[in-house]
Amino acid sequence: MTSSPPSPPRPTPTDGTRGVDPDDRFPAFVVRGAGDALRSGVADLTRDDLPEGDVLVEVTWSAVNYKDAMVTRPGNRVARTSPLVPGVDLVGTVVASDAPAVAVGSVVVVHGYDLGVARHGGFARFARVPSEWVVPLPDGLTARRAATLGTAGFTAALSLHRLEHHGLRPGDGPVLVTGASGGVGGMSVALCAARGYEVVASTGRTSEGAHLTGLGATEVIGRDDLVAAPDRTLGPERWAGAIDCVGGSTLAAVLRTLRYGAAVAASGLTGGSALETSVYPFIVRNAALLGVDTVATPIAERRAVWVEMAAAFPGEVLDSLVEGEVGLAGLPDALDSILGGRVRGRTLVRPGG
Ligand code: NDP
Repeated sequence: MTSSPPSPPRPTPTDGTRGVDPDDRFPAFVVRGAGDALRSGVADLTRDDLPEGDVLVEVTWSAVNYKDAMVTRPGNRVARTSPLVPGVDLVGTVVASDAPAVAVGSVVVVHGYDLGVARHGGFARFARVPSEWVVPLPDGLTARRAATLGTAGFTAALSLHRLEHHGLRPGDGPVLVTGASGGVGGMSVALCAARGYEVVASTGRTSEGAHLTGLGATEVIGRDDLVAAPDRTLGPERWAGAIDCVGGSTLAAVLRTLRYGAAVAASGLTGGSALETSVYPFIVRNAALLGVDTVATPIAERRAVWVEMAAAFPGEVLDSLVEGEVGLAGLPDALDSILGGRVRGRTLVRPGG
């Protein structure tokens, strides 16, 4: 009988990785294909499948954002690589780091830049990212609450920043938030209310009225009421400021009804990307349309806004914004729901669950 030679010992990680074997397979939600031929589902990856980067994160939480659903849809122009692990935001523990400023064992937040769009994102147990994208978990926030905030909370915070930079102050009058029952909208209602603004919430789901007043809205109006009389160039001067994540005819209606000198911060397009408006709000009402982009925000500003957010959002309000939690297998339904406008607040994702 011949004995086979002993198999060589498996290499041990040399990069400071805590208990992560480089050969270990881990679950991920992966989108493959291009154009109209896209398919998605849970698959096993190894660390070799992850992109370059000096920080390896074990993802404890991600969340479902509208953009995550868009990258799974045939013909989308959002995904820029294949295969792609979606997930534009993640919170997790650093398990390996070549960056002196990012310690193994620290809890971090990563969102924006190419994450979940042009490189693998948060819908996997592990993610590898450049240290220049890493935000340390601010004091006072749990990992779960940071994931609840995620891209949605950050978008709300940047939107209010833009408005305040334009001159808006509490006491100026009602601030309108559109798409109020969604992620960005709910965060915007909660943040503006916490900062002392009078908030009017616009929603297509008036059954969410009690939820929205619970977040701090003083009034809830229907989306259709807002868009009434679309053929008028100007409507009554109602809003001292507005946060819009809906776009389309909703944004046009907001522009028609801003007070003299007021501004709307616009971030989204769930109601359509086309904007039919006139110059009248700008030349008669001195109105301003402020664009909000959270993808390319410089990292120093991103980290500073996260510290502000940790202090600004009451924890129990954040908890009330969580609609539910899903594992990777629950993602197809959750992604369908957000595209269908059926999600209230935030759906958290547990990639290891
Ligand atoms: P959600 O789906 O959680 O919220 C969007 C809300 O829009 C819905 O809850 C609904 O609110 C409303 N809505 C949905 N469908 C329609 C429709 N057909 N017509 C009018 N209103 C509709 O998405 P998110 O909060 O994650 O994202 C909102 C938007 O912001 C998206 O377009 C997203 O891509 C964009 N975004 C942009 C960012 C940036 O950097 N610029 C960053 C983050 C998000 P209701 O029923 O209450 O009216």
